[in-house]
Amino acid sequence: MKYQFWFVAGSQFLYGEETLRQVEKNCAEIVAALNAAEGIPCEILFKTIVVTHESAGRVVKEANYDDSCAGIITFCHTFSPSKMWINALANLQKPYLHFHTQFNASIPNEGIDMDYMNLHQSAHGDREHGFIGTRLRLARKIVVGDWRSAEVQARIGKWQRAAIGAAFSRSLKVVRFGDNMREVAVTEGDKVEAQLQFGWQVNTFPVGELAALMEAVTDAEMAGMLAVYGQRYDLETDDAESVCYQAREEIAIRKILAREWAWAFSNTFEDLYGMRQLPGLATQNIMADGFGYGGEGDWKVAALTAIVKAMTFDMGGGTSFMEDYTYDLAAGLSLGAHMLEVCPSLAVDRPRIEVHPLGIGGKDAPARLVFDGKAGSATVASLVDMGGRMRLIVNDVVCVEPVAPYPNLPVARVMWRSEPSLELGAECWLLAGGAHHTVLSYDADAELLRDWARIMGIEFVHIHKGTEPAQFEFALWQADRLWSHV
Ligand code: MN
Repeated sequence: MKYQFWFVAGSQFLYGEETLRQVEKNCAEIVAALNAAEGIPCEILFKTIVVTHESAGRVVKEANYDDSCAGIITFCHTFSPSKMWINALANLQKPYLHFHTQFNASIPNEGIDMDYMNLHQSAHGDREHGFIGTRLRLARKIVVGDWRSAEVQARIGKWQRAAIGAAFSRSLKVVRFGDNMREVAVTEGDKVEAQLQFGWQVNTFPVGELAALMEAVTDAEMAGMLAVYGQRYDLETDDAESVCYQAREEIAIRKILAREWAWAFSNTFEDLYGMRQLPGLATQNIMADGFGYGGEGDWKVAALTAIVKAMTFDMGGGTSFMEDYTYDLAAGLSLGAHMLEVCPSLAVDRPRIEVHPLGIGGKDAPARLVFDGKAGSATVASLVDMGGRMRLIVNDVVCVEPVAPYPNLPVARVMWRSEPSLELGAECWLLAGGAHHTVLSYDADAELLRDWARIMGIEFVHIHKGTEPAQFEFALWQADRLWSHV
């Protein structure tokens, strides 16, 4: 689906036809500039000027029902009395951005008169509009600044991505093979609450069906899968049988995902009945094509991985399911990896296919992709079920080149430094209840993830360079008390 965002200008009849014509002309120019901007990934359509209660109601109703409309952007070029917006905005079901800009960047010293003031009064009109958004408790992003500014445009662009992520979320299906790993708490969650809040359809499918589909893989399907591996990766094993076995698993998993129109899946090494290997290479190569995955039955992180990938699909940095594994306390670094399943979109070099035994699970040695992650700034994000509400926790991190080659560690791995430091970052992460499973992304920054959380109506917690644990703890304490009354 190709999405559009609707630009709706606020005004009123008080100023006469000539002023409205000028508002229309100026807004068209703003929209054209935004559409030409590099930071704006998705088309903006100048929809209308709202001048009455009826025109506000009409455009919001239309936006709600038009599947191609991913959100609305409002801007009050002039004053636009907000009581005429109440009935409309109270029914708004699409993501909402209030763009507080002004057509002219500077005041014309000689030309300014009362007519000029009446035409260029967003400073005035957008305050009225801001009040009604707050009064109606509307979740919205407010972007302030000159519409010609690249920074301002980038903030609108991030919100567009978040809005597309919200639309993607509301149609997302997650396939679960097997249940959550026995006794693990943080991977659990209320699937009814998740569907209500995020729209996710999270359902189980039999591992036995997967095993049966694996038996039915044809030679042609196998040859096609192996050709993809050859194009994307270096083969550094003599164990062709193990690689073929992963291809067989991948073909079977993809058939079920395609049949169910699902963009995410989870499995667990505790339930591989009828399978000889934990899917490693198979899962990694599926993730490379934009699918989400969660280990040990973690359907929340599977869904979140798919959504972050959908929001950032054209950015090229990389996004994966990730796990905090072990620390280098001396260097202040975290080593992230998983048993096998890290997405090759994070890789700094061409990944290698290798075969090694797994220490746990009691299955055959699986083929997997081995690589180091790229250096650069990134985020790790964790979604936890607080009981009655969902909390998204985001930590800014700086990924670094691995400090050593770790020749006896045959898994994909990434090393990073948490902001504000390993110690303070981890202290805050634990206070917030963040999981060991995360989505690591070089593309999605905290602003984008915050925009998405706001649209979905969930709590957002950010651990960053300026985070101080005592203040952070107090904010969590306040949030827990606030949300317990909702
Ligand atoms: Mn895990």
